[in-house]
Amino acid sequence: QVKSQGRNGLCFFDPQMQVAISQRAQLENDLQVALSGRQFVLHYQPQWHLDGHMVGAEALIRWQHPQRGLVGPGNFIAVAEDSELIVPLGHWILRTACEQLARWQDAPATRHLQLSVNVSARQFRQRDFVARVVEVLRETGVRPHLLKLELTESLVLDDVADTIAKMEMLKTKGVRFSVDDFGTGYSSLAYLTRLPLDQLKIDQSFIHNIGVKHTDDVIVQTIIGMAQNLQLDVLAEGVETEAQKDFLALHGCHFYQGYLFARPMPAAQLEALLESVPADPTA
Ligand code: C2E
Ligand code: MG
Ligand code: MG
Ligand code: MG
Repeated sequence: QVKSQGRNGLCFFDPQMQVAISQRAQLENDLQVALSGRQFVLHYQPQWHLDGHMVGAEALIRWQHPQRGLVGPGNFIAVAEDSELIVPLGHWILRTACEQLARWQDAPATRHLQLSVNVSARQFRQRDFVARVVEVLRETGVRPHLLKLELTESLVLDDVADTIAKMEMLKTKGVRFSVDDFGTGYSSLAYLTRLPLDQLKIDQSFIHNIGVKHTDDVIVQTIIGMAQNLQLDVLAEGVETEAQKDFLALHGCHFYQGYLFARPMPAAQLEALLESVPADPTA
């Protein structure tokens, strides 16, 4: 058994760790190959209004692995985020999502659909992030108000000044913003009011516990009330049961995303689904 001691006497190397490190290096390498080899795809999970019409979708990345089949982001996005790879990957995601959005805005049946795109912290902190988004919008011809960028609380809070500056610039162009996984971070009303936000997305862990854990019922009600007071939309993610939906509706939540309604799916499948659901009454 190979082991070596660090200068401070801490063991920093053992065979198990070596395996983990080399597996990680292998994964990073595979991700690089996947990006240049066009193995990533975006699926789209519909988002719904309380009245039953589809308001838009969230773009969610999948890895079409040559041996392992379709791999979910839980298995690789954190590794990409820990390396510089998230920057080109994030840019590919944004561009691909906007290319899809451009096709949707050009067809009568889909022209009302908004598209939410997840943005990673390292990607957002790039100096040219705003310029990149503006460039993609210009090149794809997407109407900016159809694009919604999802930022997490920790991203927003990490450098509030930089966050506000970048959000303001994109807001001027018409781009919209949502706080993803809301309620899991350290949000305070004080910072919420300083950000040019459009939507709070209640984290699915709270939705999951509706009717099960009383404190989470209270948190859900509080977030909905907070959003209403701040004049923000509020969307519940991870809605799986009618009971959850009924509770949310009763307390004033108007937007939904979850397996109860539809799973993430390829764009063509979403277009087919759209034909079988109520039309947007305002369209
Ligand atoms: P997220 O942005 O909070 O996305 C919601 C996740 O919940 C998605 O998992 C979605 O498939 C899943 N979900 C939706 N409805 C339900 C439901 O009713 N029940 C349950 N149990 N789950 C539901 P997914 O696609 O595996 O993505 C996981 C996370 O990976 C995302 O969480 C996001 O943080 C990250 N991610 C996914 N795609 C991207 C991307 O394009 N860029 C970045 N930066 N991150 C991404
Ligand atoms: Mg998201
Ligand atoms: Mg989320
Ligand atoms: Mg999440």
